[in-house]
Amino acid sequence: MGPILELKNVVKTFPGFAIKGISFALEPGYIMGFIGANGAGKTTTIKLIMNLLHLDGGEIRVFGLDSREQEQAVKQRIGFVYDENHFYEELTIPEMTRVVAPFYTNWDGESYQRLVDRFALPQNKKIKTFSRGMKMKYSLAVALAHKAELLIMDEPTSGLDPLVRSELLDILREVIQDERCSVLFSSHITSDLDRIADYVTLIHGGKIVFSLSKEDISEAYFVIKGERSLLTPDLRPYLIGLRENQFGLEALVKDRDSVQRLTGGRAIVERPTLEELMLFSIRETNI
Ligand code: ATP
Repeated sequence: MGPILELKNVVKTFPGFAIKGISFALEPGYIMGFIGANGAGKTTTIKLIMNLLHLDGGEIRVFGLDSREQEQAVKQRIGFVYDENHFYEELTIPEMTRVVAPFYTNWDGESYQRLVDRFALPQNKKIKTFSRGMKMKYSLAVALAHKAELLIMDEPTSGLDPLVRSELLDILREVIQDERCSVLFSSHITSDLDRIADYVTLIHGGKIVFSLSKEDISEAYFVIKGERSLLTPDLRPYLIGLRENQFGLEALVKDRDSVQRLTGGRAIVERPTLEELMLFSIRETNI
């Protein structure tokens, strides 16, 4: 089985911003965190995947199908959970469900009802009165009720309290127990991704900085910390996103052995958190 989602040289140009030929792939059975600073291009990329924006170049394949040519077949199998509420705000949940359910050939009314009960979603209130967390849970219930094989979530945890966030992460873990299913999850809350992502893709300025599994990240990157006197012209080329202050220097490095040798073993070498990885990489995008 090939990738569940594959972007190849995807290009989108806006005045003043562009997605510059990005490529990455997500295999079935995994959660990919899609991270980047504000304005990095996460939502634009997700809208391109969902065919909500015209593609200026490249190719997007979902379940091996062309996302443009076979849009309806693809969308039957995607669950889209995103920020801007796309539901009819004046409707209640039962009214809304009567609108969305017929769209999906795979709709499972029983599992839908179980999810609505589990999420304790109110039945007789208009959707416009829902909190962010309730709207997110409702759109997740819809996504799971039609047995989506790919969940695409744009910033699903932003604005949610820690309890609801943790509940969401548990549900995502359950989703990928089915090995056909994958999740693409954009966020700038890197601690959520530290907990659940198998792969991490970092976008910055419309370019992919890296797209790697968490294991590969922990084998490939290190943070070094030490006195400023360690910084020599020989060491400098190894340092990514160097930060210097009165207490010393900090940087991301890939070649740990050379750095150890050049510093005579006097630098502290640690595994980076995703947040550090993002910050250092963004500071120096030629990683
Ligand atoms: P955030 O974390 O803040 O949501 P993001 O990574 O999702 O950021 P995008 O929403 O993809 O970022 O925006 C990337 C850039 O593209 C921004 O500079 C934005 O102003 C620009 N942009 C997005 N949509 C349009 C549009 N329709 N027309 C022009 N520029 C746009």
